[in-house]
Amino acid sequence: MKTLNIVTAPDPGLLTVCEECDLNDRSLKKLANRMAATMYKNNGCGIAAPQVGILKRLVVIDCNDPEEEPDPIFLVNPEIVALEGDPVEEGEGCLSVPGISVPVTRQPFARVRYFDLDGNECLIESDGLLGRCLQHEIDHLNGITLFEACSPINKVKALHEYQDAIARGARPGEVS
Ligand SMILES: [Zn+2]
Repeated sequence: MKTLNIVTAPDPGLLTVCEECDLNDRSLKKLANRMAATMYKNNGCGIAAPQVGILKRLVVIDCNDPEEEPDPIFLVNPEIVALEGDPVEEGEGCLSVPGISVPVTRQPFARVRYFDLDGNECLIESDGLLGRCLQHEIDHLNGITLFEACSPINKVKALHEYQDAIARGARPGEVS
């Protein structure tokens, strides 16, 4: 499977609100599979289409143990329908912000409505890593990177760390 190049910050595409996918678009499956291959190659647990330069609302997630068989979830036009629980701060990495981890505060539980690649409406809900990953990837579709998702103080710190990471040549998939 051909992999795609990952777009890294600062790229204006990462700050753009993406368009809804056309559920009848027959190229979506190919794009989704290429995104999955790109995610696995770079040791990511999630990837959104704007991270490969496509400004559409398409996400691939696989939060399972990397030692296990790949089991990607493809989410077309995903939408958060509920967030629950007391906000928790945790470090997040991002393929588009290589070399650093940024503390982001999120509610732990997310319920998300989406369409699968066959156009069926689905619902997924989770807390833990998957709950956080769903929110992180859907942020990408709304033009929100780690720098916009974190607090202003953490943003200043993260931008400095990112400059250093870029200067030493950090690549997608590197977190620290
Ligand atoms: Zn990301």
